[in-house]
Amino acid sequence: MPKNSIQFQKGFSIPVFMQMYGTEMQCRERLFNIRWKNGYVCPNCASKSYCELKSRSLYQCNKCHHQTSLTAGTLFSHSKLPLTSWFLAIYLITQDKNSISALELKRKLGVSYNTAWRIKHKLMQVMKEHDDNRKLGNIVQLDDAYIGGKQKGKRGRGAKGKTPFVSAISLNEEGHPIYMRLSVVSCFKKQEITDWAKKHLQEKTLVISDGLPCFNGLLAADIIHGSLSKNGKELHQYEAAFYWVDTMIGNVKNSIKGTYHAIREKHIPRYLGEFCFRFNYRFRVEDIFNTLIKCGAKSPPMPEKLLTLAESRW
Ligand SMILES: [Zn+2]
Repeated sequence: MPKNSIQFQKGFSIPVFMQMYGTEMQCRERLFNIRWKNGYVCPNCASKSYCELKSRSLYQCNKCHHQTSLTAGTLFSHSKLPLTSWFLAIYLITQDKNSISALELKRKLGVSYNTAWRIKHKLMQVMKEHDDNRKLGNIVQLDDAYIGGKQKGKRGRGAKGKTPFVSAISLNEEGHPIYMRLSVVSCFKKQEITDWAKKHLQEKTLVISDGLPCFNGLLAADIIHGSLSKNGKELHQYEAAFYWVDTMIGNVKNSIKGTYHAIREKHIPRYLGEFCFRFNYRFRVEDIFNTLIKCGAKSPPMPEKLLTLAESRW
């Protein structure tokens, strides 16, 4: 049997990680190189001449005396944690097949639950923002899906307490899944789908969906849209047309259920964003670590207040 190229790809082992980022100095060097690839530049006057105030871990401009810390203006600012803990958290979040809950992160990092929760949510937020910048194109399978809620009774469409989300997966010419996007929506209405498509799909993308009327909203976003209905004669074709999107909806639900006992409705967009980010980097396990470090270095600070507010839907 041929080996699965994703499962058997060369990993990013714990010993290699520890060798690269086991000390604070190594993590600081990495962050410095991401922030100032061509050497330090004063954020105040753009001078390149600076000195390091080692006792306070600050860089001071020789021209205007402006002082900056290595983490100022990044996701890692205002944190008492050493960078080694941040790097280890990023390693754990990106390298485990099913991610890691805040509770597990607390145990592995040896920090309080609140600290682990903040790290986890800040990182999930930057994963989501990074992924949202890439519009899906080519051929896209699209479906409506629901997650969460505990009420018994009706399942799926129209069920109470469930959070609706758009599930989209882009395919290459061979029909293999490439990128995925899962976005919480307020409802499945035509205008909502038009707005979603304008933000997340390239123009002229070919989208296949079922016959739910809201998907007619795709046309207003300059999308080429074909729909299939589920009836006896074409059931086989129908299932084939939605194979990947249906599989991914099942996977995300199982993964969230397996890793997290319960997630709050207002945080669902972030969890879906994390799932997509990891899926979209599944061919490159070391890249996913490097990308998330870079996202953290380039992301503005994220006060806890922002994390506890309901996330904007898309
Ligand atoms: Zn300066």
